[in-house]
Amino acid sequence: MKIAIIGTGYVGLPTGVGLAELGNQVICVDKIAAKIEALNKGKVTLYEEGLEELYLKHLNSGALRFTQNMKDAVPGADVVMLAVGTPPHPVTKEADLQYIYAAAEELAPFLDGYTVVATKSTVPVGTGDEVEDIIRKHNPKAEFDVISLPEFLREGFALHDFFHPDRIVIGSNSEKALDVIRRLYQPFSDKTEILAVNRRSSETIKYASNAFLAMKIHYINEMADFCEKAGADINEVAKGMGLDSRIGRKFLNPGPGYGGSCFPKDTNAMAQMGRKFGVSLNLIETTIAKNDERKLEMAKRVAAAVKHNPQAKIAVLGLAFKGGTDDCRESPAMQILQNLLHYNQNVTVYDPKAMDNARVILGDKVSYAQDPYTACAGADIAVILTEWEEFKHLDLEKLKAKMRQMQIMDLRNILNKEEVCRQGFEYSCIGIKSRSEF
Ligand code: NAD
Repeated sequence: MKIAIIGTGYVGLPTGVGLAELGNQVICVDKIAAKIEALNKGKVTLYEEGLEELYLKHLNSGALRFTQNMKDAVPGADVVMLAVGTPPHPVTKEADLQYIYAAAEELAPFLDGYTVVATKSTVPVGTGDEVEDIIRKHNPKAEFDVISLPEFLREGFALHDFFHPDRIVIGSNSEKALDVIRRLYQPFSDKTEILAVNRRSSETIKYASNAFLAMKIHYINEMADFCEKAGADINEVAKGMGLDSRIGRKFLNPGPGYGGSCFPKDTNAMAQMGRKFGVSLNLIETTIAKNDERKLEMAKRVAAAVKHNPQAKIAVLGLAFKGGTDDCRESPAMQILQNLLHYNQNVTVYDPKAMDNARVILGDKVSYAQDPYTACAGADIAVILTEWEEFKHLDLEKLKAKMRQMQIMDLRNILNKEEVCRQGFEYSCIGIKSRSEF
């Protein structure tokens, strides 16, 4: 099939690469000239495991192309996918749909022949109706259907999730459009549930899923707070809970709060939709408020560990919102760090992939190190804020030789507590009372 993807970011690019691998002709559009220029020159613009290799394969084969112009991509496409951002409105926090509306208006004149316009971006209930109206207004003769095709990929696992989706949800009020999308995803049909629902249900499924996962993270963090007071161990508690198949092990990792480009904005957008429809969504509202508070609490926790000494040197390991990505948007690490800078400005940071993105946000407020050991040189505390594999295998002997005080605060619970303590470090993590407090 001929596919046009509008928006070449964390969703659009892996999706384009994946669809090319499935044998489609894909052309990706982005309005940022530098992005398109880089992608046309063979320079991948974001980090995802395995992405560069597959992108180069299909760039070279000609199955994957990049352009700034809708007119190069939309005419003759069987499917046009909208994968532009839907960031939170700075004041109301509802999903800002300006990019969706602009893209719909820009693509409309170029529709030619029957086309399915599929919204991959996460959009509030009813957006499909509005996209349809915009396209019809700007091209009354166009033959098209607008469907909802929510994206469930996880950053850091984008390609894996593209090829092994848990489910594919198609929100379509048209049988003809449904047929086209079923054919597109036919390669997955024997291993993945393809769920066809009405467009508004599909739009709701995405928000309801993300809000549920955010609540699950909030819940385990609340249990972690409880364990710290009650003398229980959250790692053991989470394991015991997760063995119940009704609960499941996933999303029971205690930590510094959820972040990233999706959960914060999607929970806020869902809460806003609840208000709009006059439905009280208290669980979601509480989750949002408590998750925000948690970042501040974590910064205070770090400051207290160095006795609020503004001269103490703090090494921060991890800046991305989670391991496996270079994305710092709404990263808990970045938010904790920014709160921490109110107490202490002697901070050196390191992240395996997110340094460039972090530098844009943090500027010269912190020092940057090329590896975790340099970051920890002369430090009074090392604070782990992102669950990178690299940090799970830190050479503790080497770290010991570098640090001024042997103190590790592991806000992702990724280190082996016994091993770290055996090496003589003072160790603290989430949801376990430190020995000195008993
Ligand atoms: P992103 O910011 O990484 O990428 C969006 C891209 O769209 C940008 O490159 C931007 O320049 C481009 N763009 C905006 N308007 C355009 C236009 N009119 N024409 C051409 N290009 C345009 O965003 P993302 O993280 O890929 O997210 C996209 C959508 O997918 C959002 O709604 C998000 O909520 C949803 N989503 C994201 C993820 C994720 O893990 N990032 C997962 C599931 C769903």
